[in-house]
Amino acid sequence: MKAIVLVEPNNFRLEDIAEPPSPSKGEVQVRVLQVGICGTDLHAFEGKQPFFTYPRILGHELAVEVLAVGPTDEAHDLKVGDHCCVQPYFNCGTCGACRRGCENCCDKMQVFGVHIDGGMREFVNVPLKKLIQANRSNDELAMVEMLSFGAHAVRRAGVTANDTALVIGVGPIGLGVALAAKDAGAHVIAADISDWRLNFAKTCVGVEQAINAKEDVLAQLRAINPDDLPTAVFDATGSSKSMHNSFQFVANGGRLTFVGLFSGDVTFHDPEFHRREMTLFASRNANRIDFENVLRILGSGRADIPPWITHRASSERMIQEFPSWLNPESNVIKAMLMF
Ligand SMILES: [Zn+2]
Ligand SMILES: [Zn+2]
Repeated sequence: MKAIVLVEPNNFRLEDIAEPPSPSKGEVQVRVLQVGICGTDLHAFEGKQPFFTYPRILGHELAVEVLAVGPTDEAHDLKVGDHCCVQPYFNCGTCGACRRGCENCCDKMQVFGVHIDGGMREFVNVPLKKLIQANRSNDELAMVEMLSFGAHAVRRAGVTANDTALVIGVGPIGLGVALAAKDAGAHVIAADISDWRLNFAKTCVGVEQAINAKEDVLAQLRAINPDDLPTAVFDATGSSKSMHNSFQFVANGGRLTFVGLFSGDVTFHDPEFHRREMTLFASRNANRIDFENVLRILGSGRADIPPWITHRASSERMIQEFPSWLNPESNVIKAMLMF
């Protein structure tokens, strides 16, 4: 069967590899229908993903079809032919975090398609409990994992209809945050340095206001509401400068959530943090309930998903086109590998 192997940085190879064996206990054999490409894949391709080893089969944003269900003691209603999305965070189930229901930050996390070989192949066996069946299109199923990050962050911050949410950085992850915050009933403001992205956030997610982060963000927030600042601020930039600055945009008594990750120190001025009595959250991966929430939002018809998919390619073409997807000028929101 066909598989795309990232042999080393900047080198994908289409290989013919052995088909998986019959699924063993607790496993399901699936056909991979479609694979979303995300920042992690781009970083791995460039050789910039920390703790990454090669060769590796990428692919963690998956739409799959059930081919065979292995023996299991678990109650389930998966049938051959079902279409599913995959929760790619393979947790240990026994560490303290897992036992407390925080499987999204398992101490021994193995992300399918990142730490272990993933879904850029025709068939693969995955744990039954990581599949979520849904009658959605392949495009939507392959987007659920990415959107679940936003649902998780919004749930972490406890966003309600009483909140004004500011989402800084409306790349795909930030757009997912905006979508989930809108679903929670919040008034949503997007900030980004790209007018193209801000426009997308307005037209496709329906954010109420868009502010250009190249100009004075605080002044623009004050112009929107002179009496108060956003009560729930999300930083989805992964930029230490932006994360450092984001503290000043939070209302007194408000929450700040770091959705993007920066591999270094982020500092803040404690008196400002204290004066606001601010709560700071980190948000990592997502839980099953976040996947289910995304599927509910998609089912409500309030999310206009097709425009999010800006690029599509077959295996052969993906290998050729992948380097161009790294170029910010190609305006990639979501690229899809079509198996
Ligand atoms: Zn991803
Ligand atoms: Zn664990």
